[in-house]
Amino acid sequence: MSGIKGRFAPTPSGNMHIGNAFCYLLAWLSARSQGGKLVLRFEDCDLMRMRPEAVAQTFSDLRWLGLDWDEGPADEKRGGPYFQSCRTEIYEKYFDELRARGAVYPCFCSRQDVRLAAAPHPGEGGAVYPGTCRALRDDEIAARAKRRPPAWRLRLEDEEIVFTDALCGEQRCAIARERGDFPIRRSDGVFCYQFTTALDDALMGVSEVVRSRDLLDSTPWQIYVQRLFGFSPPRFLHIPMILDEEGRRMAKRDFALSLREIRRFYSPEEVLGQLGWLAGLRDSYRPCTLPELLSGFSWERLPSDDIVLPRELFARCAE
Ligand code: GLU
Repeated sequence: MSGIKGRFAPTPSGNMHIGNAFCYLLAWLSARSQGGKLVLRFEDCDLMRMRPEAVAQTFSDLRWLGLDWDEGPADEKRGGPYFQSCRTEIYEKYFDELRARGAVYPCFCSRQDVRLAAAPHPGEGGAVYPGTCRALRDDEIAARAKRRPPAWRLRLEDEEIVFTDALCGEQRCAIARERGDFPIRRSDGVFCYQFTTALDDALMGVSEVVRSRDLLDSTPWQIYVQRLFGFSPPRFLHIPMILDEEGRRMAKRDFALSLREIRRFYSPEEVLGQLGWLAGLRDSYRPCTLPELLSGFSWERLPSDDIVLPRELFARCAE
């Protein structure tokens, strides 16, 4: 076994869709082709958005495809250390360290305040937080805290984050100027995705992150968090997204293309054949086995652009 460790990091807010399955298959193939291991971690910090039945469905879908893992919840009941909702004490410890270092500050802005005050962020449709609460005095903080609990933002140093994505090439982001101080904890106490994912990847020893390209923009934030604590960032591979015929990305709400639905009409080998073909690993989308995909695995033929799902794939679901 090599020292490589990949991961599956599903958010159990709905059913796994074909884009998730594509991503987990590639993460699995990449890790296993290097003799590496995999971690399964459920990203369920925001419990209000989670659907408890989605956890069992995710276990079942991964196993049905034959994708196994070496570390994860010990059984299929909640309560393992691989559910983020059970890791709050760990996040608290790192958060307290940042507070002690003066690296975070309370922010009382509502979403609307941020939108109104923010400079538009070119290219991303988002907004750069203008630093409204960055320099509040202690008495101002105390007065505001009486009215509403604050969120907490990281006080970013003006530095450029540079990293090389193994599929997308070199990326550069002057994080403070281009993104602005970002929240790591919401006003209801829930820790934010960028913080928990960055910490968990580091703490769980993940050395390879294969995930969908819509998360490429999150990576500079996560690298920033990891460096704050002296962790080395993993290797990143941001894969193309699977789009429907109208060019929309798959979402958990697209019931028809959930694995749960696909499983009613297709065998695992048929699904693997179609996903393998989309990944450039097969010349046709005829059924194949996981060992067949593994023996021919290479990143070389993965399309570089997002992939529009041809109508004939998974067509039985639409009948
Ligand atoms: N939990 C995220 C999702 O299911 C993935 C996060 C990540 O891969 O970093 O969309």
